[in-house]
Amino acid sequence: MRRNRRFSLLLLTGLLAASGPAAAENTVEPTVPSRLAPSFIEFFDTLALTADFGPFNRRPAWVRKWNGPVTVTLSAPAEKLRGEIERLTRRVSRWTGLAFSVAAPGTRPIADGSNVINIRLIPQSDTGATFSSGDIVCQTETHGMGGALHTGYMVISERYVDCLKHEFMHVLGFDSHWRPAGRTNIRSVLALRDTEMRTADFSSWDILAIQLLYNQRIHAGMPRGRSLVIANEVIRRGPQRAALPSPNGFRQTNW
Ligand SMILES: [Zn+2]
Repeated sequence: MRRNRRFSLLLLTGLLAASGPAAAENTVEPTVPSRLAPSFIEFFDTLALTADFGPFNRRPAWVRKWNGPVTVTLSAPAEKLRGEIERLTRRVSRWTGLAFSVAAPGTRPIADGSNVINIRLIPQSDTGATFSSGDIVCQTETHGMGGALHTGYMVISERYVDCLKHEFMHVLGFDSHWRPAGRTNIRSVLALRDTEMRTADFSSWDILAIQLLYNQRIHAGMPRGRSLVIANEVIRRGPQRAALPSPNGFRQTNW
């Protein structure tokens, strides 16, 4: 078995309600067939709002998300991931309306800056020392205020660059992993690497969850209960989205 469990660490600094710019306007309205709505809400709730209170997490059950444009800085070794990161941020922009810009090579990491994600690529041998655990090969930490994220630190091991999409979903505000107790065919890039539920790319469920989190009606710092009420309203509106695979008959679709 490979040592590859990864943890997300969320540090929320400050307790004041967010007063930043208005949430980005969605470009896509997520809708879910009514028969799949309970499963989807559970999926969204698990990844974004509850569960997985790991050894580091003392998170309130509220929405965490970015407001406004986000700058991404890359360490010199991480420049080799630039093309992939640029493609990834373009896709996320289409789903969320959130603008990203990847800073020019040589831009230094911005400490606790406003709306910045710093990405480092480090040798695998350094990850155990960095995180005091040989089990961690990639890691994402986000800082925010009142649920409004303003700084992300992402560390990818050179041998595990396929962590990138998993970690990027963490940094968008999904702290938890997808590890349901019972059998399910719902797949996610946020399932643990060792499980059959893990996808290499964002699953359709992931994409809809990202769209939902960044819906303009769901705000950073919104309590879990209120968020779920709105989430239910949002996904039941509009035409049914046939692309969402059934939890009982998964099929991957291209986005
Ligand atoms: Zn993770």
